[in-house]
Amino acid sequence: MEEKGSIFQTTMDSEVIAHLLARSPKKDAKEAMVWALSQLEGAYSLVLMVNHMLVGARDTFGWRPLCLGRFDGAYILASETCALDLIGAEYVRDIEPGEVVFIHKDKIESIKPFNKTPCAFCIFEFIYFARPDSNIFGFNVYTARKTLGEQLGREFPIPADIVMPIPDSGTSAALGFSKATGIPYETGLIRNHYIGRTFIQPSQLVRDFRVKIKLNPVKEVLKDKRVIVIEDSIVRGTTSRARVKAIREVGAKEIHMRVSCPPLRFPCFYGIDFPTKKELIAFKHSVEWVRDFIGVDSLEYLSLEGMLKSMPCAKENFCTACFTGKYPIKPSTRLSKEILEE
Ligand code: SF4
Repeated sequence: MEEKGSIFQTTMDSEVIAHLLARSPKKDAKEAMVWALSQLEGAYSLVLMVNHMLVGARDTFGWRPLCLGRFDGAYILASETCALDLIGAEYVRDIEPGEVVFIHKDKIESIKPFNKTPCAFCIFEFIYFARPDSNIFGFNVYTARKTLGEQLGREFPIPADIVMPIPDSGTSAALGFSKATGIPYETGLIRNHYIGRTFIQPSQLVRDFRVKIKLNPVKEVLKDKRVIVIEDSIVRGTTSRARVKAIREVGAKEIHMRVSCPPLRFPCFYGIDFPTKKELIAFKHSVEWVRDFIGVDSLEYLSLEGMLKSMPCAKENFCTACFTGKYPIKPSTRLSKEILEE
């Protein structure tokens, strides 16, 4: 597109769509939208305003959620249903994979202009990204996470005094683990709610500092205890390591980490600002190495089969590329090839 004259102001992929819309040969706004989307390959769940028209579109694989709600006679589009709950709106339905909706005042027009493909719902939405009070792909996130924890408890039980989550995303899985093993659930770390996630912070220095101020251990809960810590996932390993250190410092006797997904080994090319392969600790290192780096007495990850079995719909519907390297659409751009070869 740059060779044809496009000048990009950002690195956001949605800017590519704006450029495509601007250079569409179609004059009609709806036709231009369909033309622009037909040029794309990969993941998108979009909400756009074109003059007085609201447009919602989801790629044919359905990687990311997108739902339709209604409030006071008006239609609403949102990624997650929790957004509807906040304003008291009613959930109507999901925008389907490959569907484009045009909303004008109280009228909605739905089309499916693209060839059907298999579904590739992002399984990591259920593990980490989405809020537990949301329903995505037709199912509740909290329930799915709790089921992942139950499966983890069945796969890797170990004698211990308490089960605790790394808050907040490990909470539902820790409840499931506790239910499956009968080991009492406790809150061993208290989260500071005034700062955001550390996963996508740009530099290691900023990440390390934020880890320190983010979670505070409860000494009275942890001292002299054999503790099972539930993580939703391990990306670089540095945040888990800092949390384990904090738990040890207040006197935990044993720390066993259980992770409610398999090792993350491959980058994501479907709309997530994921670390490169080199930065993913499980890409380069064995489970034993990661265990020593994090500083726990034992470390186990949920199996791929266990993760898929815990999902509320058929395993064929999911993208698992960051765990398996099996990409539903082969990364084909120069940049993605470089990232994969690094
Ligand atoms: S690669 Fe992983 S994070 Fe990306 S869409 Fe697939 S499952 Fe989700």
